[in-house]
Amino acid sequence: MTTRTQLTKSLFQIGLTCHKRLWWEVHEPDAPELAPDAQTQWMFRQGQAVTAAARPAVPSAQYEVPLQTEHLYARVDILEPKSDRSHALIEVKGSNDVKPEHLWDVAFQRHVAESAGAQISQSELMYLNRDCRHPELGALFIRTDVSTEIDPLVREVPARVTELLDVLHGPLPGDRRNSSCGECPFYDRCWPQGPFAVNRFYRMKWSEKLALERSGAMEFSRVPKGTRLTSIQQRQQKAADIGRMVVDSTLSGALDEWSHPLVYLDFETVSFAIPRFVGTTPWTKIPVQYSAHREEGVGHRHVHFLAEGSEDPRRALAEALVEHCAGEGAVVTYHSSFEKSCIRGLAAAIPELGDELQQIHDRVVDLEPIVAHHVYHPDFKGSFSLKVVLPTLCPDVTYDGLPIADGGKAQLELARLLYGESPVPTPERESLRAALLAYCERDTWAMVVLHQRLRELAGGRG
Ligand code: SF4
Repeated sequence: MTTRTQLTKSLFQIGLTCHKRLWWEVHEPDAPELAPDAQTQWMFRQGQAVTAAARPAVPSAQYEVPLQTEHLYARVDILEPKSDRSHALIEVKGSNDVKPEHLWDVAFQRHVAESAGAQISQSELMYLNRDCRHPELGALFIRTDVSTEIDPLVREVPARVTELLDVLHGPLPGDRRNSSCGECPFYDRCWPQGPFAVNRFYRMKWSEKLALERSGAMEFSRVPKGTRLTSIQQRQQKAADIGRMVVDSTLSGALDEWSHPLVYLDFETVSFAIPRFVGTTPWTKIPVQYSAHREEGVGHRHVHFLAEGSEDPRRALAEALVEHCAGEGAVVTYHSSFEKSCIRGLAAAIPELGDELQQIHDRVVDLEPIVAHHVYHPDFKGSFSLKVVLPTLCPDVTYDGLPIADGGKAQLELARLLYGESPVPTPERESLRAALLAYCERDTWAMVVLHQRLRELAGGRG
């Protein structure tokens, strides 16, 4: 570590949550866990757009003002001059509401600003108004004065700073596991990796996992009799006992409930912090692409939609969707809340197609709970995400070799293709469209194969 350590707002925030994470962030800035993924890059860009959009709302101010002391660094989003030569400090957020950590952010910024010699008479948060609808963007931001709320936090900042600097000048802190570990990039360093470790229990509270560990029950098999476990957790335990996959006899009945012909459906969306299309609000998910595999005869027909150009794609997409999903059979998804919310959003945007879209919405079924409530394989490691379930149950279906192989990258590339600042040149545009189509098609084909695999398991052909 350099002899001159400067805490930024984000490091301070991390340090409030976990000393160990802070230590790694500062001492191992090039750790592979810290490489920004596509989703992080997208959020960063949207944050920049929000900060830029906030400027006209506070004219004659200073923006992104760098301030520092020996150990602290802050870039204050907006310093608005007041008549008495003091300033209002305004922290701009790209979220739809005020979260407790935002107050700490403002408190940190104010402490740094005052330590650097600025006179701050007011502290505000400026965040996105969830009720603001395009094109009425005059009401995009809500400003709220948090001066009084943050007073006690500001008084606490110096002691916290001293504590965090001490941490950084010391050795790697010991065990600090807590409820924020699930969001931490260093999760795999701190928690056991075995398939039957108690932290693999599905949806068990962090405090309960830690309590089990402290009692000496590191693995499923050591959990004391009488411990209350959900049916899914009991199935996990059973898989550990027998050392292989557990398939409930009820799986067959659950699969039989769906009416045919099935349509396997998956959307790709882009969401903008600043509303872009009529009627949308901050962070509305805009479906711009879908893939569907329809059961036809003994096989499947693939259909798809991918928006063209930068116009609002929802009407064209909704019309294609209504045509492609016509019929009575179930519409199969994986994690249906996402697809359902996309369809509801389309119905609100295109009321003329409201009845047809509602009908598709009501036919949506979900493979994820079918897996979660009937099947457990040790390699799931406590997760029922398709990224884990698919390679375990259907190892032949992979995304290997696809230029776009994950949803985060797909969103970034869709945004670049359709709404980038400069048009993607023609040859690249064609290859990019092909890559996006191939990725989305693989998503729905994966569901087809997974469903087939579940039918085999239900028939005892595991
Ligand atoms: S996984 Fe938990 S204990 Fe480990 S660094 Fe992250 S937050 Fe801290």
